[in-house]
Amino acid sequence: MKKAYGIKLQGIVQGVGYRPFIYNTALKYGLSGYTANKGGDLVIHIEGTEEQIEDFCEFIYTKIPIGAEIHCIEKAEVEVEDAEGFRINQSIEEKETSIGIQTDLGICDQCKSDIRETISRYSNYPFTSCVNCGPRFTVTRKQPYDRVNTTMEPFNMCEECKKEYESPGNRRYHAQTICCTKCGPKLRLLNSDRSEVSGESIITAKEMIKNGKIIAIKGIGGYHFVCNALDKDAITRLRELKKRRYKPLAVMFKDIEKVKTHCYLSQHELNQLKSIQKPIVILEQKKHSNLPEEINPGLNKLGVMLPYTGIHLMLFDQDIEAIVATSGNTSSLPLAYRDNDALGQLCSIADAFLIHDRDILVPCDDSVISVFKGTTQVIRRGRGYAPIPTRLSEKSRHTILACGADLKNTFCIIKDQLAYVSQHIGDMANLQTMKLYKKLIKHYSDMLDFRPDVIACDLHPDYLTSRAGQEMGLPVVKVQHHHAHITSVMAENNYYEDVIGVVFDGTGFGTDGTVWGGEFLIASLKNYERVGHFRQVPMPGGEKSAVEAWRMAGAYLQDSFGDNFKNINLDSVKYIVSNEWPLIWNSVKQKLNCINTSSAGRLFDAVSAIMGICYVNNYEGQAAMELESVALEENGEKYAYGISIGNLIVVDFRETIKGIVTDLLSKKSKRCISGKFHNTLSQIVIDTCCIIRDSRMLNTVALSGGVFQNKRLLANVAGGLKRSGFKVLTNRTIPCNDGGISFGQAVSAASQQN
Ligand code: ZN
Ligand code: ZN
Ligand code: FE
Repeated sequence: MKKAYGIKLQGIVQGVGYRPFIYNTALKYGLSGYTANKGGDLVIHIEGTEEQIEDFCEFIYTKIPIGAEIHCIEKAEVEVEDAEGFRINQSIEEKETSIGIQTDLGICDQCKSDIRETISRYSNYPFTSCVNCGPRFTVTRKQPYDRVNTTMEPFNMCEECKKEYESPGNRRYHAQTICCTKCGPKLRLLNSDRSEVSGESIITAKEMIKNGKIIAIKGIGGYHFVCNALDKDAITRLRELKKRRYKPLAVMFKDIEKVKTHCYLSQHELNQLKSIQKPIVILEQKKHSNLPEEINPGLNKLGVMLPYTGIHLMLFDQDIEAIVATSGNTSSLPLAYRDNDALGQLCSIADAFLIHDRDILVPCDDSVISVFKGTTQVIRRGRGYAPIPTRLSEKSRHTILACGADLKNTFCIIKDQLAYVSQHIGDMANLQTMKLYKKLIKHYSDMLDFRPDVIACDLHPDYLTSRAGQEMGLPVVKVQHHHAHITSVMAENNYYEDVIGVVFDGTGFGTDGTVWGGEFLIASLKNYERVGHFRQVPMPGGEKSAVEAWRMAGAYLQDSFGDNFKNINLDSVKYIVSNEWPLIWNSVKQKLNCINTSSAGRLFDAVSAIMGICYVNNYEGQAAMELESVALEENGEKYAYGISIGNLIVVDFRETIKGIVTDLLSKKSKRCISGKFHNTLSQIVIDTCCIIRDSRMLNTVALSGGVFQNKRLLANVAGGLKRSGFKVLTNRTIPCNDGGISFGQAVSAASQQN
């Protein structure tokens, strides 16, 4: 007997080839009916026997196209319409709906071959894309995702493109970004004075890269500075011009083989590199890699990606195997993405501009991920990940805008049952970043048809983001920074019982007005209780001490040895004392410009500086990253430490610091000392969690905070906790650093309001 069903798929179901996929599957199973995009959803009307329809559903739910993601399926029996054959209907615009905004997809293998083919109409055409790949989010003005609503709108399809666009079996059927040499965007190469460079743009650009030049290249979510990754002089010049002396630069390799030449690569890392998100993956660099050390000074890790557009693909040949590709911005300004801004801001750095006439509507940086024990950890959420929402366990009664943190900012929107975390926006260091922040909030609001009725923000009284939120005149929920880190882990893992939260972080405003960051909490989504923390030390010179790691070294040495530390015969001690330490310490004693901190980030800074590894953070996290880089892989040794149990558990590092100094004086290797320090910290977490478990009967630990980007620490802590019988939760697609704060604020506020 013939039956009919109406099916609604919610999630990432548009712009990823779902309709042609449905069409082909329906034909395969001999079914009739139709499918269409409706608002952000995909709707299907399907007719046939019960059995056929079941097979069809099984297939479309499980074999979903690349890039698609189903969040919710609704299926109901409807009246048989006796539809003839199967067709794809025009998109239906509808306001009241959950909406999936698509993310930008890296170029697929088939489009790569099309570009390389000599007789294809896509041969050597850098904007080749299909339903499985190409820009989405950064070119879409509004829903639904149709060509008229994208920046491809000005490009009228030629006859051949139109034919492909309209053929249901074709890979480019309803591919909104379809275009070719005849009808699509074109590349141009400009000198830094905006005059046209003659000749074939991409070939000339390639020649320039070979000759040591720096080119600003317009990609998917913005501009990159690009130069030859094997050219030490070019890299040095780029660093000098960009005033970025130490922060590691990302490298784009020609192919996987070239990656393997320079880096160790696990299967999971390889899968991530090749995934449609095409993120930057942090890999361990091989010792014999001949890349200049100017790329990642002092580090054994390298940020690596593969070409993700036709433009990138065409830059490589037998002479160019690797390019440095770093965000096109100057000093602390946001990523340049509009042509005029780029030509103005980047011209003192770039020798030439490789640009095109397809507009980028919103900037979106490359995503950065690292792989930990086979799972992905997103460190910077950008292209490929934003703005894909996270599904919550229940519908939120309120629509919430969470403002995020002032560093590594993202914001988060909760509407119904979905939480959208924005792309990485950056540090709120200047007006331009704040302008971008507001612009993106507006853009998301328009795309999602979203108006907040509750604002969530950090407790910090001076956060610019909190102020911006409070100015909106809506009810405000303030969420403590480290509580937000923990709720981000809980909601991401769909875990809603109370947890022991361990937050190791740089800076976060505590309820007592001091700077927190080495915290043990007991947390639910709604509430938290601080049950333990690192023994506090002063931050000499306040904010300055977050940059000048040697100041924290002084504070910790002073705490461990008292004034006598000045007699210790170490280079680092001489360095600290010669920097007018007596004067600095005097003002600490008088409580001038000095707050106390329990920050784990500052502890890493202190140890790194005491060991003479890094005295000053030229970029955030430098001292800690370099300390991790030298850590010996395995030694079971640990330093002594103290844990005192009173009203609060306090972890005391004075014996640890003394142990480190003793080892340094007896000329033990830095590899060994760093390894011992990591082991010590891990043991402290395990011991402290056991103490809390015994008194509070909790067996689940959530780990978060930027310090857990340290893979050595995370591996030791997570492994040790599991061996002690704990269930361990960590962040995955939500960053454990401050990029995840907005999500944590949003879910906590939702829970408090519901
Ligand atoms: Zn493709
Ligand atoms: Zn065309
Ligand atoms: Fe934080």
